[in-house]
Amino acid sequence: MQWEVVIGLETHAQLNTVSKIFSGAATAFGAEPNVQACAVDIALPGVLPVMNKGAVARAIRFGLAVGATVAPRSVFARKNYFYPDLPKGYQISQFELPVVVGGSVTIQVGQGEAAYEKTVNLTRAHLEEDAGKSLHEDFHGKSGIDLNRAGTPLLEIVTEPEMRSAAEAVAYAKALHSLVRWIDICDGNMQEGSFRCDANVSVRPKGQAEFGTRAEIKNLNSFRFLEEAINYEVRRQIELIEDGGKVVQETRLYDPDRKETRSMRSKEDAHDYRYFPDPDLLPLVISADWIEAVKGDMPELPQAMRSRFQEEYALSAYDASTLTSSLEMARYFEAAAAAAGKANAKLCANWIMGDLSARLNRDGKDIAESPVGAAQLAGLVARIGDSTISNAIGKKVFEALWNGEGQSADAVIEAQGLKQITDTGAIEKIIDEVLCANQKSVEEFRSGKEKAFNSLVGQCMKATKGKANPQQVNDLLRKKLAG
Ligand code: ADP
Ligand code: MG
Repeated sequence: MQWEVVIGLETHAQLNTVSKIFSGAATAFGAEPNVQACAVDIALPGVLPVMNKGAVARAIRFGLAVGATVAPRSVFARKNYFYPDLPKGYQISQFELPVVVGGSVTIQVGQGEAAYEKTVNLTRAHLEEDAGKSLHEDFHGKSGIDLNRAGTPLLEIVTEPEMRSAAEAVAYAKALHSLVRWIDICDGNMQEGSFRCDANVSVRPKGQAEFGTRAEIKNLNSFRFLEEAINYEVRRQIELIEDGGKVVQETRLYDPDRKETRSMRSKEDAHDYRYFPDPDLLPLVISADWIEAVKGDMPELPQAMRSRFQEEYALSAYDASTLTSSLEMARYFEAAAAAAGKANAKLCANWIMGDLSARLNRDGKDIAESPVGAAQLAGLVARIGDSTISNAIGKKVFEALWNGEGQSADAVIEAQGLKQITDTGAIEKIIDEVLCANQKSVEEFRSGKEKAFNSLVGQCMKATKGKANPQQVNDLLRKKLAG
């Protein structure tokens, strides 16, 4: 039997407002428990929620970024359930009329030959408040409740059940993660829970029209866990069905230590929550003028920038997509390409995606805080571009710039005497010396051993401390050995 996997994701993106969605309490992460929960958040009698305009503005930004309809009128509803971290006994959310309807996210899946592009359609995105947190560890042997997070603004973004593999789900989650940071509505910090995914997973025999019964895996806060949880769940469901069992609709949790999903509770239906419009809040009305104003304030979007990079700088789809994985990287690239000249744009891209990214990774730094600025990298790339230095020497210069051993590539090249030797006479002289001292390699080469040639090139480079132009060394050496 051939099985098809069906996945729909619900993502909670925490909006980066300073205060909560219906109160003035702070949203900052990491405070002592319960110091950032005001009367509204802890649901004292008689308090009233007041909508945070900044949260709405962020929802509009998102709607525009994914090409959705921003609803001129949406409604807050109470989702009723009991849990210790929910003092009101209901969560304020949106149900029938969400603020964002439709839209889509384009994803790139896989690499190289097997890469493909796919558009994932969104069902909706709605505003809601977060609940508090139960603390079970290290709390005087008891469980505690921290209500600091209660009332934190969330945008829940829901996809159609259109993803067909864990790889597609991860590509979508990454694209969405990058987008919410790009438009600056969410800090994307997954460890702190600012961006977390619920994965709805089902399987069906290939060719069958109806969907299978799904399980929902809650609160996946890393891309790796998302991938592992889906793959585990797919295997579990297929084995269950092949053994004659049935998948039940339920909520499951992923245990990263045991790498398995476990049943948490049977899945409730919408009617179990007794949704009804919240009488404390007026319908949310968004004027066309407001939407226009937000539109005027939007940065160029990653999709548009990707196409522009391919056209303007003649980059491949892969390069363009890597460079637009964050707004900071895209800006860095454009600044470097502008300074180094368009002819050097591809070289800039290679350096950013290669040496610079590796070095940033190694030091756990963000590109925005790179010790080597875009103008400095451009200066380095320009000297490789005009053959003042080779790529290999470029790495030395880069390291020096990184360590603050010079203000510019030119200064480092000058101070350390790294200028490439391109003078034919000088290179020929070195080659003669090397040939003289390495008669054995010469004989080996003449008897057909190509390896010996590489070894001679290596000797020449070594003799010049890497400063000879490698192409010239190659050409001249061949000529000499042929002669
Ligand atoms: P709920 O509100 O109960 O979570 P929804 O019908 O709104 O349920 O769907 C939630 C998510 O589940 C959506 O992302 C949707 O695409 C996905 N989904 C719905 N049915 C299936 C299914 N059979 N298999 C996989 N995903 C599904
Ligand atoms: Mg749900």
